[in-house]
Amino acid sequence: MNDLLTARIDWQRRCLLVNPFESDFGDGERVLSDKIVGARKVHFPGCLCCFGGIAKDEAHRARVEVSHGQARTYRWCQLCCEAMAIASLDCGAEWAARDGLYASSPAPRSVAQGPSPAGAPM
Ligand SMILES: [Zn+2]
Repeated sequence: MNDLLTARIDWQRRCLLVNPFESDFGDGERVLSDKIVGARKVHFPGCLCCFGGIAKDEAHRARVEVSHGQARTYRWCQLCCEAMAIASLDCGAEWAARDGLYASSPAPRSVAQGPSPAGAPM
């Protein structure tokens, strides 16, 4: 099995090894949690990278940081997580290609895949 395929299969572990804010200067943020979770509802726009939605039940990365006393959750969809997971092998090419992919899309990716009832918990 080649490295790229192995990395894609092991995307959840490999994705979490990547600091998605590595080039940011930072503002004293503190990471409270950073893990792969299943979405309990549709998040739209949900993904901080491609700005696409995150479908209900989709495995995705959720990172909670606190800065200036405020907690904020950042999310990345599964496809962007997979791109992060192989970033060390393709020099971040796939991850860069996904950046802003759905920023101006009238029909975002995951919305049709599984909307949840309004007001459903996270
Ligand atoms: Zn994404």
